[in-house]
Amino acid sequence: MSHTIVAANSTDVLIKPAPVAMVWTGAGSSLAEIAVPGVALAEGDLLVAVELATVSGADVRAVAEATGAPLVLGHEQVGRIVAMGGAPGSDGVSISGGRAIAADGRELVVGMRVVWAETVACRTCSRCLADAPRDCTRPSRYGHDRVHRGWELSGGFASHVQVLAGTAVAIVDETTPATVLAPTPGAVARAAAALRTAATLRLLSVGRSGPSCGLDGRTVLVAGAGMMGLAAAALAAEAGAIVIVSEPDEARRQLALDFGATAVADPSLGRRAPGGLGWALNELAIAGREPVSVAIETSGALAAVDGARAVLVDGGVLVLAGAADAVGTPPSTESLAAGGDIAPAALVRHRHTVAGLHDYLPEDLLRAVEFARMAWHRHPFAALVGDTLPLARANDALDLAASGTHVRVGLAP
Ligand SMILES: [Zn+2]
Repeated sequence: MSHTIVAANSTDVLIKPAPVAMVWTGAGSSLAEIAVPGVALAEGDLLVAVELATVSGADVRAVAEATGAPLVLGHEQVGRIVAMGGAPGSDGVSISGGRAIAADGRELVVGMRVVWAETVACRTCSRCLADAPRDCTRPSRYGHDRVHRGWELSGGFASHVQVLAGTAVAIVDETTPATVLAPTPGAVARAAAALRTAATLRLLSVGRSGPSCGLDGRTVLVAGAGMMGLAAAALAAEAGAIVIVSEPDEARRQLALDFGATAVADPSLGRRAPGGLGWALNELAIAGREPVSVAIETSGALAAVDGARAVLVDGGVLVLAGAADAVGTPPSTESLAAGGDIAPAALVRHRHTVAGLHDYLPEDLLRAVEFARMAWHRHPFAALVGDTLPLARANDALDLAASGTHVRVGLAP
């Protein structure tokens, strides 16, 4: 649908037909469309027309677990800037006085195709005022925060998103497909952050600079072959790692082989059973490969966390990138006392470094976009969006995403 800005001054934008957002109002309800005819943009805010959004696992879980309503879901999307909030200029009319800077330092202008980070610092808490926005105590989260007056266009399941000033924005090219770009601010940026974290911790663990500190030639285990796991596998392979992907679903394991995995394993099998993780690692060892020195856990399943720790070499690094939405039963205190894999004694004995990843950094978003721009020629990223539905069918898109048929389902206004 074509939208036209019919009136604008320095902060208020009136658009026809009115921008719409799909609002989820809570347990047992479906998404309902609301119209937002007027948008008040603060200085540095962007109004972005959504080109394509993708439904992530977090969107599906938010509805399944009935948390946080009412909200506009969606934090994975690509769009185009249609208006910018300017400083109240002397003429009091023009919005061209608006100025915003992308994460790479370039100036943003109307018409640019962009993606943006999942979270934005508040700019008013003590940490923000101390110039530490990464430690912001009350960040806003796209597709996650309760919808409220003044920020109704707060998620990607909408025709437009109001991107708040201070959000890390990445400019994207005109030729990369929207299906490749939409997931970059979500799963792909998180995968980039996980790899950056692993490389940094290896540097500390190995204790010196040199080729052994990078991922080149190292064996990297990626647990889970959803969007984040597939992106992590492809990123690690590009860094020169030998990648093994552990994933219970047969079709996803086959997919992982198209995303840079040298080997795949089924964690539901016994570790020594053919096709199991221990068996696959033994095959790699016979082929002259090293044991696993870096493990990236993307599924959030506690069994997968345990499995990853169990095969990690002494001095190895485990990054938990999927555990923010952990599923499964926590180990009992008895099993911890008995020296289970996540017991402190085992951590010490094996000199394992375990890091949790919650929010990523602006540089991770830039890395994700740069990676996606090249990688979709080598790996079938575009095919991961198995189906795209119109925005009005957001409920069907959520159901389809929940079925697990596709790695991603698209939503197009
Ligand atoms: Zn803050």
